[in-house]
Amino acid sequence: MSQDNYLDLRRVRKEFGAFTALKDINLGIRKGEFVCFLGPSGCGKTTLLRIIAGLEMHTSGEVWQNGRDISVLPPAQRDYGIVFQSYALFPNLSVADNVAYGLVNRKTPRAEIGKRVSELVKLVGLPGSEPKYPSQLSGGQQQRIALARALATSPGLLLLDEPLSALDALERVRLRGEIRALQQTLGVTTIMVTHDQEEALAVADRIVVMNHGVIEQVGTPQEVYREPASPFVADFVGKANVLPGRLTAGMLEAGGLRIPHAAGESPTDREVRIYLRPEDVLARPIAEGDAHVFDSRIEKIEFLGSYCHVHVTSDVLPAQPLVVYLSLNFLAEQSLEVGSSLRLRLLQERVRVF
Ligand code: ATP
Repeated sequence: MSQDNYLDLRRVRKEFGAFTALKDINLGIRKGEFVCFLGPSGCGKTTLLRIIAGLEMHTSGEVWQNGRDISVLPPAQRDYGIVFQSYALFPNLSVADNVAYGLVNRKTPRAEIGKRVSELVKLVGLPGSEPKYPSQLSGGQQQRIALARALATSPGLLLLDEPLSALDALERVRLRGEIRALQQTLGVTTIMVTHDQEEALAVADRIVVMNHGVIEQVGTPQEVYREPASPFVADFVGKANVLPGRLTAGMLEAGGLRIPHAAGESPTDREVRIYLRPEDVLARPIAEGDAHVFDSRIEKIEFLGSYCHVHVTSDVLPAQPLVVYLSLNFLAEQSLEVGSSLRLRLLQERVRVF
């Protein structure tokens, strides 16, 4: 692993009895990075975060932070702040006392604590909230205070365990933007656990996609979305049409479509699954002579506001419908409705094959 990493996980393994929750995880996180652990329920992302925090003991492997092996250190001797999913504020303590908690434990002088607390509540957008109690705050406000508490001692690492999942949709989007902005201002290395791919795509510098205790892919949001390393990643991050097809020498065949495709090192002439993002099938522009153009019939239109999921079938495609994204304006302009025919063009360079 690189010397440049602020956090290094080396062959981290976790067994619960006969069940292996994490299978030899290797991962390096650079200083100042915002990394999301993304995956479905049960993939091991929370367990991995808890191991980094020292709240769970791993079975084997090492955890290094800032050049120091912290594998067996108790949580109190590690350098991090943490925010949990449910509001873990002390209900009987005021906002000021909640935020001051870590500072008091460190025997920080009183005057300094007061100054730092008011700085922190301002930082999270709740100046003047010091005398309030958690029950007087909304869910989003409580999470902001939990964030202030986690940052109070200026930790080297900020750990966020699904901090937004108990909030309503609007508040979730607002707070994730605030967390990202704050993280960039402070430059604090941050790991956020989430099962929400949109959330991860929106805030992360890099996403660690996990499944069944292994890392499927590590990459920037663009890399993970555009170049998924496995069918799991292609399915889990974003929407994809999956078509059955056949790969023969240099050519991909799906129904009546023939798409030139480099076979790579795998043997040719085999059944494959073809992944195609809905936005990579276009209704315009289509010019005379364009390749991979086909006629389809609109079977279903799902209205989603400014754009729609349009399900189409075509004689040249395998039997199942293909989903494409079209704007509401385009549908209206072209008087398109269920039953209309629609000419489409597939972007050859965006086709992924597994
Ligand atoms: P979720 O989003 O549902 O929390 P997750 O990806 O965070 O999912 P973990 O909580 O890390 O998943 O759990 C990973 C696996 O380990 C799951 O199959 C879970 O049932 C199992 N597991 C977690 N904690 C324990 C435990 N204390 N004892 C036994 N099995 C456990």
